Amino acid sequence: MSSTMIETVNPATGRPTAAYEAWDAARIEAAVERAHAASLAWARVPVTERAARAARLADSLREHAGQLADLAVAEMGKPVAEAAGEVEKSALTADYYARQGPGHLADQRVAIDGAEAWVAYEPAGLLLAVMPWNFPVWQVMRFAVPALVAGNGILLKHASNVTGSALALQDLFAEAGFPDNLVSALVVADADVPGVTARLIEDERIAAVTLTGSNRAGAAVGAAAGRAAKKSVLELGGSDAFVVLDDADVKRAAAAAVRARFTNSGQSCVCAKRFIVAEPVADAFTAAFVAGVESLRLGDPRDPDTQVGPLARDDLRAAIQRQVEESVAAGARLLTGGKPLPGEGYFHQPTVLAGTGPGMAAFDEETFGPLAAIAVARDDEDCIRLANATAYGLGLSVWTADASRGVDVARRITSGAAFVNAIVASDPRLPFGGTKRSGYGRELAAEGIREFTNTRTYWVA
Ligand code: NAP
Repeated sequence: MSSTMIETVNPATGRPTAAYEAWDAARIEAAVERAHAASLAWARVPVTERAARAARLADSLREHAGQLADLAVAEMGKPVAEAAGEVEKSALTADYYARQGPGHLADQRVAIDGAEAWVAYEPAGLLLAVMPWNFPVWQVMRFAVPALVAGNGILLKHASNVTGSALALQDLFAEAGFPDNLVSALVVADADVPGVTARLIEDERIAAVTLTGSNRAGAAVGAAAGRAAKKSVLELGGSDAFVVLDDADVKRAAAAAVRARFTNSGQSCVCAKRFIVAEPVADAFTAAFVAGVESLRLGDPRDPDTQVGPLARDDLRAAIQRQVEESVAAGARLLTGGKPLPGEGYFHQPTVLAGTGPGMAAFDEETFGPLAAIAVARDDEDCIRLANATAYGLGLSVWTADASRGVDVARRITSGAAFVNAIVASDPRLPFGGTKRSGYGRELAAEGIREFTNTRTYWVA
């Protein structure tokens, strides 16, 4: 490895924001050794004390909320109001695990004649976390807070376009009283990432790996974990269905659909991406949805009134444009938007395609940007068929006047989460994760904090 620079770029302008020297092999090795030693010591700290640091982390997050939000805006271009929300959600999650972590990790007694038996949740060790840029604070925190309260250490390989956020988060953990080196951000050059992560996964000092990101990266990390017989959690892509049944309140559903698709400028794994609408309400829903999309305020992500900012990188914008063009060539109808904005930055018009279905890029692939695909279904059966016609299975949202009908429909569609008359969102009190190509393992709630523990059996005769 040579001394390569990692340059971060402001997506609203296309201009560089900062440059960081990528680490060489010796520097990475030194960080692994220090993090390993820190994680061994941390595992012996009582859980109540570990949880107390999470409470302090919540305070630090709130204290530095403005700075973290500004950094996210500068590095990946999300609207500043959403960036502030992401920091507060992270603080709420730290509060949650400060209160609930010790209970989730408490020994579970099992009644067995002639022996005392229990299940314990003991620290797994040093974890490698490969993280994406789309929620630079939240993606790290939703994994890291429970992992730390569970007694583990973390090597953080954040996405290179948010290197400044990665380093700021490392400082924040130290400020909150987590021991030095327990959370270490690795600064790795793009070209070195597959090799470095594969080597780290093989390293005896690394206990397990988690990745949130694309299917391509997930496949590489999952394969390396398999070769090393190590635990992995993969939080991958999604193509969530937003199903509108024929009895739904169309106006309410359409307003929710706009939020569900265009939050984070369309760059969330659980953004609704495919809008599957029952034929009797399709025209009304489509008209209300398009009107809502056309009223979105697109612009400077630093402006608190902006609702849609630029995409995080130019190649992501090009991918959206390709999906629009291929889908239209395959017969989809462009209802609004459809074009990148000329001028500086990586802006793309909020776009709606109608008449989509299996065989079209906007329906079959994950659309990671401001592009909505509408498909019309004949009835509930057809809604279920279309919703399931995807390789992904992350979230699902069903809209209906009859909640029990919504739950019945949801039961027949494969996903990691099902919301009826609500937008899919993560919540620290509930587990989060995927099925099918959206990955495996769970974050958040009790399930999330136990993922990276040794679920250990004790039997005392
Ligand atoms: P990405 O390109 O896969 O990057 C994610 C992370 O993986 C980055 O740190 C990246 O490092 C690293 N990486 C890339 N290739 C790798 C490889 N071959 N081996 C090991 N690590 C590798 O994904 P992204 O574009 O940042 O994020 C968007 C994707 O993440 C979407 O598909 C989205 O749906 C998914 N996502 C899923 C969830 C979920 O919870 N299910 C949440 C958010 C996002 P570099 O940046 O240095 O390349």
